[in-house]
Amino acid sequence: MNLHPTSRRRFLRQTLVATASVAAATLDPFALTFGRTTSAALGGPYVDVHTHLGRTWNGDPPLTAKGLLEWMDAHNVAKAVVLPLVSPESSSYLNLTEEALAAAKAHPDRLVPFCCIDPRTSYRGGRTGLRDLLKEYVDQGAKGFGEHKVGLPIDDPKMMAAYEVCDDLKLPVLFHSDDIRGTDESGLPGLGRVLKAFPNVNFIGHGPGFWASISGNLPKADLGGYPKGKVFPGGALDRLFEAHSNLWGDLSAGSGSNALARDKEFGQKFLIRRANRLLFGTDYLKPGQAVPQFELMASFDLPADVRAKIERGNATTLLKLAE
Ligand SMILES: [Zn+2]
Repeated sequence: MNLHPTSRRRFLRQTLVATASVAAATLDPFALTFGRTTSAALGGPYVDVHTHLGRTWNGDPPLTAKGLLEWMDAHNVAKAVVLPLVSPESSSYLNLTEEALAAAKAHPDRLVPFCCIDPRTSYRGGRTGLRDLLKEYVDQGAKGFGEHKVGLPIDDPKMMAAYEVCDDLKLPVLFHSDDIRGTDESGLPGLGRVLKAFPNVNFIGHGPGFWASISGNLPKADLGGYPKGKVFPGGALDRLFEAHSNLWGDLSAGSGSNALARDKEFGQKFLIRRANRLLFGTDYLKPGQAVPQFELMASFDLPADVRAKIERGNATTLLKLAE
């Protein structure tokens, strides 16, 4: 059969899935064909829009580029975005842009670097100074801005200054929102103001405050949590996705997986309804970390084109990655 390698892998995988016994559900048929056994990665190839290198939280061992690549191989992740963390509220240790750029330079076909500057950082030259700081990173290959995880309201004037420079440099912004970082009110009016003020900047939402807002009837306290149970109608996310074509959703971390898993009937329809704006991600940041997204995504019954967009196509287009 004269199939493109990707189609051939997909065909082999489908054939194997169709004929495999229940025991094989815990093996990745793609890996099986290549003689490797892995965890239950039933989909892919994935583009993961959310990983971190180095040390992130105290008490955790560091994740090296080698460790990240081995994990990617084992889970059929073709490319991963490496996100720096540079704000004191973001993590225990800072993950510098320079390290993300260096890792991606060593593995240009697998790792995609983002750059980050905390907008409270001291810099000279006003807007031009901030632009020049970021431009250096863009010239070295940075494909986006983030993880923007700053202890300020999402639409604070300092945050707006950073978005303005990202607008100049055509950088998508991956932001974290909860009750400490990128804060907002119930219904995400601050995010609405940001999306309206910068219609040419693509904003990629992540974190408890963003994903809890999949549901209506949301008390402000839940912007810092992982609410369970049925999703109420009238959630801010559907409203904002409808009103702003520059909003994207990063399905990574406990917040992203909870938003889909808490009400799978809603999750299934949401994935299909927002297929053009959702991006597969994990937030993998330490060796051996459990990642629910692989099995969760595989558990939904999605049309092939929807799955392909969410698992890799949208990220490839948005970040202008080589196919
Ligand atoms: Zn993260």
